[in-house]
Amino acid sequence: MTPPAPRFTTVIGLEVHAQLQTTTKMFCRCPTQGTGGPNGRVCPVCLGLPGALPVPNQEAVRLGVRAALALGCQVQPSSQFARKSYFYPDLPKGYQISQHDRPLAWGGELVLPGSGAEPRRIPLLRLHLEEDAGRSQHVSPPGEPPATLLDFDRCGIPLVEIVTRPALGSPQEASDALKELRTLLRTLGVCDGNLENGSFRCDANLSLRPADDPTLGTRVEIKNLNSFRHLRLALEEETARQTELLAQGRPVAPETRQFDPSSGRTLVLRNKEESKDYRYFPDPDLPELVLAEDWLHAQRAALPELPAARRARFVREHGLSDYEAGVLVTERAVADHYEALLEAGARSRPAASWVLNEVLRVWDGSGDGPPPVPPAALAELLALLGAGAITGTVAKQVWEELRQHGGEPAALVTRLGLGTTTDLDPTVRRVLAAHPAQVAQYRAGKAALLGFFIGQAMRELRGRADATELGRRFAALLEGEDEPTGG
Ligand code: ADP
Ligand code: MG
Ligand code: ZN
Repeated sequence: MTPPAPRFTTVIGLEVHAQLQTTTKMFCRCPTQGTGGPNGRVCPVCLGLPGALPVPNQEAVRLGVRAALALGCQVQPSSQFARKSYFYPDLPKGYQISQHDRPLAWGGELVLPGSGAEPRRIPLLRLHLEEDAGRSQHVSPPGEPPATLLDFDRCGIPLVEIVTRPALGSPQEASDALKELRTLLRTLGVCDGNLENGSFRCDANLSLRPADDPTLGTRVEIKNLNSFRHLRLALEEETARQTELLAQGRPVAPETRQFDPSSGRTLVLRNKEESKDYRYFPDPDLPELVLAEDWLHAQRAALPELPAARRARFVREHGLSDYEAGVLVTERAVADHYEALLEAGARSRPAASWVLNEVLRVWDGSGDGPPPVPPAALAELLALLGAGAITGTVAKQVWEELRQHGGEPAALVTRLGLGTTTDLDPTVRRVLAAHPAQVAQYRAGKAALLGFFIGQAMRELRGRADATELGRRFAALLEGEDEPTGG
């Protein structure tokens, strides 16, 4: 028998880099988007040519401040850009302009959706502005030696870095936190939140400590996790790896590791560099970043309703569950569509279930495209359904038609002859006459055959009938107040 494994508590902290949605770079006027690359969007400033001088991008500062205010950070009236020096082929200046001991903002918190209970609050350490580095691309063309190509188009793209405290307790919670941050930044128009193309990226730090000892253990950093799933898998794997080391009494090395999705393992990238390795010092080319008080006030006043508040309101005002509100609010466009339906007269619960079950199946609101069916038309469809003028089956048919070709629901129902049939008896009589054996069995006590009769009638009516009403008619005729056959 092996002794019981020592119990460890998982401690996770995230460092998230989010590309700010500006049209020009952080310290020069090169465009952030567009083709012409590789190396089509560079200038002496972002290439770090001698004598070129950086000028901060006001829009980038505004977006960084917007994120900080929404996260409840303490925005600093004055902060400082600093040089972070390191050598890397895709960093032509030899340093990155970042913020170090005087960041744009301290503190703040991320509010995660809770289920029923209080929302979970993840404290943040800091938020600062910086510029991105370029990109290296490793190629091995057939018949030629492998090479590394450098694309400097990303050099100088504005980023905000958001750092959580070591306060996340599980890989799932880390993934929830990253999702919430993505929803928030997208809602604010600060970042497009694209993990795949790297405009939103995450490094995760993980350590273990004995369950009864609050002292934090040695952490390992896992770089560049580019999906929620990879984040969770990498942290689960790293938890297992560290648990095994500690259980054997071996130390965890302070390392930077990388997740390899094909093997599901984390691999050593390098030893963890320390802050002092970067030789941070205030960038002499850039003055302090000073924010005027009234400008800050204006930024605070311009914040939209934030996801956590919107979820709470959906639960309170529209009677939705925490889960439903959570799903609807994940994408701002989806929540907006839901509210547009209500404004167009739809009732809150049917509208919610239609969005959750039908709309989200074909449209997740993450792109630029409009919802599949405009709110006025969908609200009208839901009204027809709610009034019993069409059945659920027909509603789905009309929905498909609206999606593919547009149109007006009521007109479509009339044109396609899809209105609910209220005169059910002729059909009911035909079905009974066609199935005398089943009628006899039903009368002998096999009550479950009612469903069979309803199914037959529905088929004949192409779904244009209310099943409950049909059941009632069948039962009445079978139980003999009327003559069952004949119609
Ligand atoms: P650095 O400057 O080396 O990047 P920071 O203090 O900024 O270090 O922390 C980076 C990240 O690591 C933060 O998200 C923080 O929460 C996390 N972190 C720090 N210590 C630990 C630890 N012992 N275990 C897990 N995460 C940690
Ligand atoms: Mg760091
Ligand atoms: Zn430039």
